[in-house]
Formats: sequence, C-alpha cells, structure tokens
Amino acid sequence: MTAYQLLINGEWCDAASGETFATHAPSTGEKLADLAKAGREDAVRAIEAARRAFDDGPWPRMSGAERAGYLRKVAELIQGRSQALAEWEAKDSGGTIRKAMFADVPGAAASFSFFADCAEREPDEVEHGESPFPPARSVLRREPFGVCTGITPWNFPFIMASWKIAPAIAAGNTVVLKPASFTSITSLEMGRICLEAGIPEGVVNVITGPGGSAGEELAQHPLVDKVAFTGSTEVGRRIMQLASGTVKKVTLELGGKSANVVLDDADLDLAASGVLFGTFFHNGQVCESGTRALVHAAIYDEFVDLLVERAGKLVLGDNLDMNTDLGPLVAPAQVDTVERYVKLGLDEGAKLLCGGRKPDDLPAGLDRNAYYLPTIFEADNSMKIAQEEIFGPVLCVIKVGSDDEAVKVANDSIYGLGGGVWSRDPERAHRVAAEMRTGTVWINDYHMITPHQPFGGYKQSGVGRELSEIGYHEYRQVKHIWRNTATDRSGYLHFSALSNTL
Ligand code: NDP
Repeated sequence: MTAYQLLINGEWCDAASGETFATHAPSTGEKLADLAKAGREDAVRAIEAARRAFDDGPWPRMSGAERAGYLRKVAELIQGRSQALAEWEAKDSGGTIRKAMFADVPGAAASFSFFADCAEREPDEVEHGESPFPPARSVLRREPFGVCTGITPWNFPFIMASWKIAPAIAAGNTVVLKPASFTSITSLEMGRICLEAGIPEGVVNVITGPGGSAGEELAQHPLVDKVAFTGSTEVGRRIMQLASGTVKKVTLELGGKSANVVLDDADLDLAASGVLFGTFFHNGQVCESGTRALVHAAIYDEFVDLLVERAGKLVLGDNLDMNTDLGPLVAPAQVDTVERYVKLGLDEGAKLLCGGRKPDDLPAGLDRNAYYLPTIFEADNSMKIAQEEIFGPVLCVIKVGSDDEAVKVANDSIYGLGGGVWSRDPERAHRVAAEMRTGTVWINDYHMITPHQPFGGYKQSGVGRELSEIGYHEYRQVKHIWRNTATDRSGYLHFSALSNTL
C-alpha cells in the first residue's frame, strides 16, 4: 500500500489534522493509496511557502533561459518514467492505458518542453512602438504575477497538472496545485519530479484534499495573485466569487456541450469514426467532447446507421489492457449521473438508438457498476440531454437541414468550448467554423489539443486561454515604463495642463 503526504516548501509532510483519505481504482474498487487530507491550515502553509519562494527566493530572479533548463529536466524525467506514470494515471482515473501512454504522459512532458521554449524565447522587455511624445519612449516589461494556485479535475489529472504548473513556473511564478480528490496520485508524482529536477523549495507545492475547504482557501487567500481552475461551471462561478475579494487574476476552463457538425459532402466513413472519437474518447469525460452531432438531413439515416454499428464494436473492459477501448467511468457516482440523464432523455421523448445501460458482460473482477455502454440518442437541441453537460458516454444526434441551421443549433448553448465540422470542401467547412461561437473548432478532426495552440472557452465555458504563447502571457503581467529623456522644458509642455508656472 502506498501512502502520500503533502508537498509543501520542498518537503513531504502530513496534514495538520493528521487526517488521510483513500483513493481507489474505479475498475475494481481496489484501494490504491492513502493520501494526506489537507484542510485550510495546510493550504495556507503551502501558500505562505509559495509566497516566500516568490518574494525572497531565486526563482523569479533567474533568467528565462535558466528556468527553461529546469523545465526541460522535468520533461526528461517524465519521459524516463513514462510506463510507471501511465499505469498510475490509468489505475487511479479509470482511463485506458492506451490514453495514458499516448496522450497523458507525453502530453504533460510536451507542456514542460513547450513552456521551457517560451521562457527562453519570449523577451521580458520590449521597446513599445513609436512614441507620440518623443523623446519620451515606452518600454513594456512582462513580469510574473507572484503566487499562482491551480485547481484541477479528475478527467486528465497529469496533463492538467502540467497545464497549471509548467506555464506558471516558466514565467517565474510560484505555484500551489490541488488536484481532484478522485485522482491525486500523478499530480503528487509530478511534484516529486519537480523536486528531483532541482526546482527550488516552495516553487512547486502540491496539496491533496477537499475542494470545499483546501480548494476554497487557494481561491480566496489574500497572498494568492492568480487562480487557474479547470472543472465544472458551477464551481468555476464559486472560484470567481472567492477570487473577487482581492481581485485576483482568474483563468477558468469549464464545461462544454460541443457540436460536431457533419455536412452533406463529408466523407461519411471518416466522419463516423471522428464523431465517435469526439464523443466516446475517455467515455465522454472530456470537457470539449463533441456530445452533440449535428447531421445534415441528406445523409442523416446512412450516417446514424454507421454510428450505431461502430459504437457497438467499442470494447469495454480492463482499462490496463491495451485492447480495451472504454474503461470504467471515474466513479460509480458518475455512472449514477449518466443513468439519471439517460432516464431524463427517455422522459423527454428522445429516441434511444443504442446503449442506455450498464454492460451485461465484463471480464471477471471488474465492477460492472463503474461501466456504462456507449449511448446514442436521437434528440432535439432543446432537450436537457442536449443542453446540459453529462460528462459520460452519451451522444445526442440532431438532424439539421442546412449549414445555417447547423450554426444556429451549434450556437444554441450556454457553452462554447470545442466543436467540429466534417466536409470535403475546406472553404465551406471554414465558413461554418468561423460562425460557431466556441473556443476551438476542428475541421475533419477532433480532440487535437497541443501545447502550441490556445485552448479555452467562449460564453460559460470559461475565461482566458491556456497553452500556446497566449497561455504563457496569461502568467505574466504587463508593466509599462515611460522613459522621458528630454533635456529641456520643451519635452514637458504637458505640465501646462496643470499650470503655466511649473
Ligand atoms: P468540480 O468542478 O466539482 O471539481 C474540480 C476541482 O475543483 C476539484 O479539484 C475539486 O476538488 C475542486 N473543487 C470543488 N469544489 C470546490 C470549491 N468550492 N472551491 C475550490 N475548489 C473546489 O468537478 P468534479 O470533479 O466534481 O466534476 C463534476 C462535474 O464537473 C462533472 O460531472 C463535469 O460535468 C464537470 N467537469 C468538467 C471538467 C472540465 O474539464 N471542464 C472536468 C471535470 C468535471 P475535489 O475533487 O476535492 O472536490
């Protein structure tokens, strides 16, 4: 049995209360580890350590190139232990080992490498354009905010931890991270790796414990300068309220109900695979999943038949087996949510095309109550199952008559995080993509998120952007320095706005 402590100020320590909580493998219910249960007091300890490391420590005073060296070391160490990290990630979250090996672990290493490049490449100071009042000129400095806190969800714990830690420390900030209680192990392992890479004490702190106490402290404490949160829209609203007390900078990456538009000239074979990948990857527990397929009437029947046939071939099973397509959901509570929505869909009059229940047969030893069959409904966009985020393997197929109607239905949502368009005509697809009010649109593709491109939401899907240079700059504030080098009073005529005698 493994036991984890909190990582505060470069040391592993128990929670002040001495309390712990257990984390389990969703597929079998097996207990994986005991974790220290941080409360508010521990969150404050971690924030104070991060504050000291920022105010008095070497990290923000190093050059970007020096910091980049440490981030590259982190990336190297992640790659060096990718098998073990992938196994922890899959076991703890229920995601497949395939996802962990091809997406989670290399994706996290890529975040550290990318933001190392940013730290090295992006200048701290630039001359700002032509001055309207020469010889005065302007210099823009980009400086770290100070203490950044990161609160992450359970669906992609390792990658999410890298999205919060890597850009923040690359820019010279210090960090306190709190992962979701269901899936904390690999975030603690990331903390361990940061220590091993030689990142100074207090720069990266990782605490585990309940969002309602430790998490709230990270969002509201006066010594915190910025909060970055990924999770539900409901908790995102709460984070915004808590952060407003001291007007912290906030980045929020929240829920979605993204539209995947299939036009009548699409390659149907490819689009069917793309729509299934867009919805059922990681059992639909992905914020930008394309959970509404908007399918053109001319190809509707043929396309829906393809979807249903292929969905039936997805293999549910042991998520540590490379041949498994779909593992368990993160916890039985998430299966309950899915069941509630499926019942609601039926009550609303949606037509169930496949799934809609737990699987009958699973390999021995797996907990049937943690699994759910890929489920497809023929639905209307006004239904709750088409409007609310289910965060499970449920696809709503909606018939549309034209490109304009597809755009209208796609935009009829409080969310705007992802989206897709499938067509053989790139210009036509591009026109539809441009009209969709959402943060990312993939044309003839889905789920392709890399550190090089910005990611974030329109409407209630979020505030700000993560990843890319844009995401990097969200961890740096701009200081304008006005340098007046005039040697006589002709450079100070503006003083006369107050008086002719100055
Ligand atoms: P939450 O939004 O509840 O939790 C996300 C993170 O916030 C976790 O670390 C959680 O801690 C923490 N948290 C919870 N409450 C607070 C609070 N009051 N103050 C500060 N931090 C808090 O998401 P869940 O993981 O519970 O999932 C619920 C739903 O959210 C899902 O069904 C799905 O619809 C959506 N979701 C969206 C995600 C996205 O990427 N957009 C990702 C995950 C979920 P703890 O784990 O200890 O509660």
